[in-house]
Amino acid sequence: MGVQQAQVEIREPDGALEAARLLDLESYAILDTPPEACYDAITQLAAEYCGATACTLNFADKTRVWTKSHCGPYVRELPRENSIFELVLTSGGPLVVNDLSDNPEFQNNRVHLRHLRFTALAAVPVFSVEGRILGMLAVFHCEDDTPVTALQVSRLESMAVMVSSRMELEKLRRQDAWMTAPGMLLAPGQMRTWPTPDDLQRAVDERQFVLHYQPEIDLVTRRIVGVEALIRWQHPTRGMVQPHEFIPQAEESGIILPMGDWGMAEACRQIQEWNALDPRNGSLRVFVNLSALQFLREGLADHVESLMLESGIPSHQLGLEMTESGLMTNMNTALDVLGDLRALGVTLLMDDFGTGYSSLSYLHSFPFDVLKIDRSFVGRMAEGEQPLQIVRTIIELARVLNMSVIAEGIETAEQYTLLRQMGCRHGQGYLFARPMPAADMTELLQLPGRILPDRDGPPSLSVLRTA
Ligand code: C2E
Ligand code: MG
Ligand code: MG
Repeated sequence: MGVQQAQVEIREPDGALEAARLLDLESYAILDTPPEACYDAITQLAAEYCGATACTLNFADKTRVWTKSHCGPYVRELPRENSIFELVLTSGGPLVVNDLSDNPEFQNNRVHLRHLRFTALAAVPVFSVEGRILGMLAVFHCEDDTPVTALQVSRLESMAVMVSSRMELEKLRRQDAWMTAPGMLLAPGQMRTWPTPDDLQRAVDERQFVLHYQPEIDLVTRRIVGVEALIRWQHPTRGMVQPHEFIPQAEESGIILPMGDWGMAEACRQIQEWNALDPRNGSLRVFVNLSALQFLREGLADHVESLMLESGIPSHQLGLEMTESGLMTNMNTALDVLGDLRALGVTLLMDDFGTGYSSLSYLHSFPFDVLKIDRSFVGRMAEGEQPLQIVRTIIELARVLNMSVIAEGIETAEQYTLLRQMGCRHGQGYLFARPMPAADMTELLQLPGRILPDRDGPPSLSVLRTA
């Protein structure tokens, strides 16, 4: 690893490169922006991982270094000249100084470092997708800390990738590229007119919702290890309506609660039916998506327990998927609820991982069993080193936190191969099967060993063709 001990020779960066860097920086709109929990979570986690006293996340324009987030003693905004940032910029890679207090180059204000109690530092660049250095993530050690190790630098680099992935997502969101993502945003000026709360309530009363199921497979053996239950609205005149067209409205109106209750009960009933059909299905786990409202409602664990008792299914067959937004509204409640659910023995899965990160520094206290890599990362994996690195980092993070990891949205053989190479064990996506009605899923579960045939292998089932 190219860890460089400080050679404090500060050169002017090349003018054209610097102009391109500043333009690139501007496109991310990160300078002078208010604090954001996700970046604070990253600096906190980086300090913790590296056993450091302080961590800062900085960005620099032409003349100044600006602190977006810090943890530990505050390193305030600095002139860029002779700063650590400048060193990182000129070295182009990680910078490690283990003799800060003795190093003559770091005395006499040559490099601005206000907290000279620090004895060592490690700083790594935050790159843009174009590969330009936009920022720096740095940890500072004091005498009592152990000095910086190569492993810590590599973890710091992983954290820096998380910073850039977050910035990239924000940029995509601003460009409205997320319009295509289910339920994410409305076009400017667009109003939600349908469905109204009445439409939704009627649909609940008249039992117009159905669950479709998508297999989650072991990427090595192609065995179906689980299924995700995904709700659909079988509308009498509009046909099959996808969740992004009604989940946001159901959440706004609170109708997600009865809808979610129905979904969970229906999934339990289905598990019981599959078990009755073939006892070998007893090893199958069905994951149900929970919205933030459901999660924060009093008595969730009791409700889940009574559903399991009623349907007679063992807790290891039920998994609950939630995104971090539901967890972050009220951390203490979240911890209690997750603890109660865990005590029941249900599997807890963090969905869409990588799109938020606010919960990153709490992740090790949350009792999650599984991290699911968001499909926006999987989809861009073949585009270059940076998206690949994001996925690699999440897999590594899950390994460190002792969680299993599943990739969603696998659509191509190339993504499948890359994920297997990176040690991702589980996945789901159109490459294997789309979400399908329960009857088709039942047929799929009868495959010998529940192993999905290779596309080039034996003739596929009708459900695979139509999926
Ligand atoms: P999610 O939980 O992240 O579900 C994964 C979504 O990715 C599903 O979309 C699935 O059909 C889609 N998907 C799976 N493989 C691929 C692939 O290879 N490529 C692409 N492009 N997409 C793939 P779906 O069914 O439209 O659901 C969208 C979202 O709606 C879900 O995202 C979940 O957040 C929400 N949702 C679905 N069912 C329920 C439910 O019962 N309750 C709640 N609260 N939310 C639900
Ligand atoms: Mg999900
Ligand atoms: Mg997801």
